[in-house]
Formats: sequence, C-alpha cells, structure tokens
Amino acid sequence: MTFSIHGLAVSRGVAIGRAVLVASSRMDVAHYFIEAKDVDAEITRVRKGRDAVVEEIHRLQDNVATMGPKEAPQELAALLDVHLMLLQDEELIGGVKHWITERLYNAEWALTTQLEVVARHFDEMEDAYLRERKADLEQIVERVLRAMKGAASPITTHVPRSARKHAQQDLLLDDTVDVPLVLIAHDLSPADMLQFKQSVFAGFITDVGGKTSHTAIVARSMDIPAVVGARTCSQLVRQDDWVIIDGDAGVVIVDPSSIILAEYGFKQRQGELERGRLQRLLHTPAVTMDGEKVQLLANIEMPEDAQSALKAGALGVGLFRSEFLFMGRQGKLPDEEEQFQAYKKAVEGMHGLPVTIRTVDVGADKPLDDTLRDDAHLNPALGLRAIRWSLADPAMFLTQLRAILRAAAFGQVRLLVPMLAHAREIRQTLAHIDQARAMLDNKGVAYGPIKLGAMIEIPAAALSLKLFLKHFDFLSIGTNDLIQYTLAIDRADESVAHLYDPLHPAVLRLVADTIAECRAQGKDVSVCGEMAGDIALTKLLLGLGLRSFSMHPAQILAVKQEVLRSDASRLKPWAQQVLDAEDPAQAMALA
Ligand code: PEP
Ligand code: MG
Repeated sequence: MTFSIHGLAVSRGVAIGRAVLVASSRMDVAHYFIEAKDVDAEITRVRKGRDAVVEEIHRLQDNVATMGPKEAPQELAALLDVHLMLLQDEELIGGVKHWITERLYNAEWALTTQLEVVARHFDEMEDAYLRERKADLEQIVERVLRAMKGAASPITTHVPRSARKHAQQDLLLDDTVDVPLVLIAHDLSPADMLQFKQSVFAGFITDVGGKTSHTAIVARSMDIPAVVGARTCSQLVRQDDWVIIDGDAGVVIVDPSSIILAEYGFKQRQGELERGRLQRLLHTPAVTMDGEKVQLLANIEMPEDAQSALKAGALGVGLFRSEFLFMGRQGKLPDEEEQFQAYKKAVEGMHGLPVTIRTVDVGADKPLDDTLRDDAHLNPALGLRAIRWSLADPAMFLTQLRAILRAAAFGQVRLLVPMLAHAREIRQTLAHIDQARAMLDNKGVAYGPIKLGAMIEIPAAALSLKLFLKHFDFLSIGTNDLIQYTLAIDRADESVAHLYDPLHPAVLRLVADTIAECRAQGKDVSVCGEMAGDIALTKLLLGLGLRSFSMHPAQILAVKQEVLRSDASRLKPWAQQVLDAEDPAQAMALA
C-alpha cells in the first residue's frame, strides 16, 4: 500500500530505489558491493564467523556444565541454548545468503540487513518472552561480526551503484542487482555520513535532524536527494521496500504505485536536464547585470573535495571544515604530519586559488565519535565546542596550527577560527598562532603567510564587529549557527525546525550589519552558512552588499545563474525594505 511520510527537505532532487535500513550505529559496518564471482567466498566468510561463535558457545556450555548452580545459574545454560538455536535459524542464514547472492552485498552488510528483517518479526510477536529474544539475536549477530573482523573481506569492491542511478528511469520494479538503493536510518552522525560519502546510495532519509544539522549538510555536499526529520520513517519502512525521496519537497513515498513512479521518474529527468543546462554557465564569470563581480567559493569536508570544487567552477574554498579529519577515529586524533598532508593536498588541489581552512569545530552535533556522543552535557551546542575545545587543549590546537601554517607554504591559505565571542578568546587564539610559528622557527620548518579570519556565528560576535575587525583580515558569517543562537533553536532538532528562520528580522539585521561594517572598513566578508547556497536568498544577500558566497560545490552554478540575473543597484533599496519589514518573507514575496 502506498503511503507518504513528511520530513524536511535538505538535499534536492528525486531518488527512487529500494530501502536499505541501517542498523544501530553500534553495529556500523562497511557497505559495498562484491563481484559476482566472489559470492561463494563471501558466504564462506559469514559461515566461518558463525562457526567460530558456535564453537565459542559450545566451549561455554562445557564450562557451565562443570560449574555449580551458584556460579552458573540454570538460566545461563538456557540462554546459551537459545543463542545456538538462533545461530542456526534458517531465516537468518537463508536471508544472509539471499542478500549476498541476489544483491551482491558484502557479508557484514548482508548480516546486518537480515538482522533488521528478522528483528522486525520479533517485534511483531505477541508473546513477550519471544519478543525479548530480539536482544539475543542482536547479541549473536554482533558476535558473528566480531568473529568476522579477523577475516576481513579479501574481495575487491564494485563500482558504486549510485553512479548508475540514472538507469532507474525505466523502472520495472524488477529484482536485478542494479536496483538503486536509498539509505534509511534513525540517525546518522556526520562521521557516519562521511563513511557513506563514497558509497552506493542514491539518497538518504533519517528520522531525526534539522535542515542545517551537520548530517544534512554532508548529504547536501554529496548532492544526492535527502530528507531528514522524517520522524518514524525507519520504523514504518521495511527492508527492501520501494521508496521515492522527493528531496525538494521533503517527502518520502513508500511502495509507490506505477502512476506515482512514472510521475517522479519524469520529475527526476527534468531535474537532470536542468542540471545539464546549468553546466553551460561553468566558465561564465559571476557578474551581476550591472557589472558587480561576485566571488563563488566552495565548502568542503575532505581534501579530495577540492576536485569537485574546481569542477563546479569555484574560485576557491571558502570553508574547509577540518573537523571531518578528526571524526570517527576512536579518539586517536590526526597528528601534525597527517594534518599537514591533508591541508597541503587541499591547497595543491586548488591550484593557487585561496583555501580557507577552519580550525577544528567539533562538539554539539559533530561528535568526534559515535561512541563519544555528547550526552553528558546538558546543552552541548552551548558547551565546549569549536574554538573553546581548541583552547582547552593547547597541544592539540598547536598541532593543528603548525600543520596549517606549513601547508600555507604551498599556496594561498586563509585560517578561519570558529565560534569566537570574547576578546580573551581572540587574544589567546592569536597567541597560539604566534607560538605555533615560533615552534616551527625553532625547528627550522618552513611555513607560509596566512590571512586570518573569524567566523561570525554567535550574536555576541556580530554585535562586537569593531573588536573583530581590529584583529582579523576577513570575516565569514556562519549563518547556520548564527540563526541557531539568535533564535535559540537547536539546528539539529526537527521538533523546532519550523522556527528555524533565516528570514527572521533579527537574523537579517545581524547579517546586514556585519556585511556593511566590513565593507565600510574595506575588509573581506563572506557568508559560508547554508544561506549562501540557497537560491531563494541570493538576491537578498546581494542587495545587502554581499559579494562573496561559500557553499557546497553542487549549488554553485544555480547561485551563479541567480547572480547573472540580478541587478545589484536595484536590489539595494529593495533589500533595505525587506530588512526593515516586520515580516521579511512576506516583503520578499510582495516585491
Ligand atoms: C555555520 O555555522 O554557518 C557554519 C558554516 O559552520 P558549521 O555549519 O560547520 O557549524
Ligand atoms: Mg558554525
């Protein structure tokens, strides 16, 4: 039966594919396709993993038999029997084989997929005792996965299927291995998303998250349709259901009829044609109709992204979120050499164009690791985040600063500091930069000149511009956090997403004043929050005097098209009207 689920639109376009429900992050496993010739080897890997666990349980049973009732209560023996039984369960084994043979999933992926299928059956059971056996099932699957870890797949991975997503136009709802897949999860951390970046999925859906949560931002950077905040989606959709993601409307359609499929197939093709048309603007300079030059820069997460930035015609990197180098590493942070190589790669990858490297901004919805999710603090977004975290760990901060300074010997580097609010923090940051230079001097290590910038993303900073402009060469407005902190709306919380409003007069006032003050003092200013890549806001920002926009590479051409259609001198008075309006959104619509 067809039904739809409404969430938040975070990444445009339409994806049509079969649902892949990912299990809880504690069972995060690699997802890739194997070659057909390797199916047997992959099944053998699972079998060996299972056999190892069966053996382990037999050993435990022998031990239990020699113990007295005090050391080993009767329940323990019964539990081991249950685990053995589950390991031999036909539904589990048959399902795993099915996913490997029919879909060419790697062994771990097949196992966790089938776990989801069987677990759902347990959930539906009337008998409470049987329902509770789901936890046992999860335990044994975890044990098999652990046992398999020793025997990593010897198998080469397949070309990501997302590369073939266009093949879905003539969907026949068949079961070939070439079916596009969409990933559905309750939650995905930014680190999880990074893992999926090179992956096989044609779209994403999560139950939680806001429009500018970092998970949504990474989805957008991958330029694949995504919906977040879809509430109970991961419970309503079943493994392998057909789903349509409408990333423009924020709607998920489950089990669509053939009429709906045809309609969305058409919409998908239209979107692709439109993107194709935009490619014609690739080499056109971004200049308004009245001759104002506009700088369009890219936001990147990893050094390799420099390639897509150049391909999209970016004139530099306006924001390299360096924290993505620090995530998902089980607490082992990258050392100076590793960071230096990463920054150098990004700098060299941009062939002389400027690269703005932001110092690490972890915390809040960007935990270093899933296991280190910040539940311990009451308000992580207001806690030890970004520069606060860096200043609290001088050795880590100095390591990063040295690496960035060294990379500056290979091209134009702009160092950007997130989340500053206090004069004291500014002084400490500058002192650390001096110290990092002195350390490199002492060791005789080469480094290059940098321009120094600050993010304006806390209202206190936007209201202390003179202080900031005294110390920094440029400012970059982080509207994602500026909105969050001005309106007291958690950007990652879908339950208040309707109040997260870039057009709130207070937000616009802070953005407008920052732009105006920088221009008055002849300092560079850009916007690197999601507002910069939103074509509905391009004209307003141009009217407010902004001439530098930094966004995901995928959005650059669409924003360029808006710039080319704009007359900056006419937009200026209009933008002032919008700024002074009680309801700016309405004022924009009326103009
Ligand atoms: C912002 O806050 O607007 C920004 C660009 O930084 P981040 O999204 O990484 O917090
Ligand atoms: Mg921010």
